Amino acid sequence: MKTMSVNKVITQSVDLTKAVVQPLAGNLLHNKQVAIDVLRLDRIHPVISGNKWFKLKYHLQEALQQNKTGILTFGGAWSNHLVATALACQQAGLASIGIIRGEQPLVLSATLQEVQEYNMQLQFVPRNEYSDEATIIPALQEKYPDYYIVPQGGQSHLGVLGAAEIGQLTQIKSYSHVSCAIGTGTMLAGLVHAALPHQQVIGICSLKMPATENNSLNSFVKPYAANGKQYTIFYDYHFGGYARKTGELISFMNTIYQQHEMPTDFVYTGKLLFGIMHLVQNSYFEPGSRILIVHSGGLQGNRSLPGGTLTFL
Ligand SMILES: *Cc1c(COP(=O)(O)O)cnc(C)c1O
Repeated sequence: MKTMSVNKVITQSVDLTKAVVQPLAGNLLHNKQVAIDVLRLDRIHPVISGNKWFKLKYHLQEALQQNKTGILTFGGAWSNHLVATALACQQAGLASIGIIRGEQPLVLSATLQEVQEYNMQLQFVPRNEYSDEATIIPALQEKYPDYYIVPQGGQSHLGVLGAAEIGQLTQIKSYSHVSCAIGTGTMLAGLVHAALPHQQVIGICSLKMPATENNSLNSFVKPYAANGKQYTIFYDYHFGGYARKTGELISFMNTIYQQHEMPTDFVYTGKLLFGIMHLVQNSYFEPGSRILIVHSGGLQGNRSLPGGTLTFL
């Protein structure tokens, strides 16, 4: 396929003009003399939402340029990455295969039912095999030579380069801090890669993991922090671990919606907002700080909650 049509495919998928910057107002921010703007990436597309588009973009381009039949990628039952990949592939005229963590359940999750509507072909893999990437990826590559493999969560250099473009949607220079949620750390690495010398990048980790200098996250992100770029990861806002939640988190999310008409998801952006607000409360940010929060989308995952849990579903 020619480069021009690749670009066309890539630009017709989402509407980046919808990624508005929403300022948050409130007594706490006023008292602490801190400004917060939220970059609403959740609005660029109802399905190909948030950071997933940015992480996918250059992978999609590669798959098209290499004339691949489709894309093969990985995810769990409620994966934002899978649903975004499935629809983006369908729109680009590519087939897609989703390798799903765990045994096939009797009833598929709403997310997996949806990816099937976009013609993604599903394969369930036991958890122990799934996490053994060193074995499973070469095996799949051999089995599906015509498919371009995107690592879980788009975690790769191409994923980072796509995520590095997120800041271009704003007056990025004007911020002292740029913050995001963390799953694989690909988005964080991209924001760090693109950070300016006066900026601090802050990641709120949604997984429970040891806060060590040489953990898997830092190993991935650090190479992008060359030239003195500054980033800090906070590990205390996981609410029990990945995709776990507490009543406190849920009522915080309901309050945020009530105050700012801003929906969040309980896996990533709810924890991100909570963490940043908590840091503001504890005077982590100097007066005069201007913080950009990247709302990375992922609202479809809230479908896994019992009805009525959130007031805005
Ligand atoms: C996938 C996802 C993340 C995590 O992004 P990484 O690049 O894997 O760290 C954060 N927020 C939302 C809403 C997501 O869907």
